[in-house]
Amino acid sequence: MHGSQQRDVDICEVGPRDGLQLVGELVPTETKLRWIEALAATGLPEIDAASFVPATSMPQFADAADIVTGARNLPAPWRVGALAPNLRGAERALGAGAEMLFCIVSASHSHSLANTRRNREDQVRIVGDIVRLARQEKGRRVLVSGGIPTSFGCSIEGRVSEADVCRVAADLAESGVDEIGLADTVGYGDPALVSARIKAVRRAVGKDISLRLHFHNTMGLGLANILAGLEAGVTVFDAASGGLGGCPFAPGASGNVATEDLVFMLEQMGMRTGIDIDKLNAATDILAKALPNERLRSHVREAGVPKVYGCAA
Ligand SMILES: [Zn+2]
Repeated sequence: MHGSQQRDVDICEVGPRDGLQLVGELVPTETKLRWIEALAATGLPEIDAASFVPATSMPQFADAADIVTGARNLPAPWRVGALAPNLRGAERALGAGAEMLFCIVSASHSHSLANTRRNREDQVRIVGDIVRLARQEKGRRVLVSGGIPTSFGCSIEGRVSEADVCRVAADLAESGVDEIGLADTVGYGDPALVSARIKAVRRAVGKDISLRLHFHNTMGLGLANILAGLEAGVTVFDAASGGLGGCPFAPGASGNVATEDLVFMLEQMGMRTGIDIDKLNAATDILAKALPNERLRSHVREAGVPKVYGCAA
């Protein structure tokens, strides 16, 4: 990932995209950019800045191109990512200068239809088209991440089989994505399931492709699941500052793992994230002020950074 600083773990901030997608109140473009600038100043190696969905379906992202272009103009050694649910979205994201495209194929057939109105096979083909489009960018290498929502369960179908997750992962690897992301869209995963799924997906896609994990904290198991991921060898994790987030097609899904809490856990364990936790709190203050009615869920924000922080043995 980007940045010169030595890191043991890469955290991708998904607040401006995944975090904002359920927030009804529109955050002004200028405020989003101030928030992203403050986030970038914390040392985050990657920020998922916007979603290139049609503005009619998610008015919050009507300014996606302005956000990505504005983010690219900020001076920082970090990567600007954007969600591209289809080829049109990918064209717009690339045109705005996105350096990483997040594409998705749900493991659950029902979630795929609800979220993208396409079945998994058609969505895999679209990801293949997006990879080809990204490879045509002149003079720069745009990374494509193939994310698999509902990798650990689905609010519509319930249990999602390991075979389904592995088949989608193998199809995505075949389509040429740079990494595979396992996403717990609804937050039903547990540490044992996380370990088992990572092992199975590793067998399905081989050792060469990197893995990313994305957890929601619906059942309070987000950090435990990340720990299971770390033990299984994954070092790239998504998180949203203030624990913002949800999924419009996954009722009951609560926020992402809070970036503040994840940084706290990892740094206290002696792992380097490269992220300044005080600057992170200051960045989240911008968001909190812009969304006074939104409930933020970060233990570190509520308790404050304790004196023991940074005193890891
Ligand atoms: Zn999510």
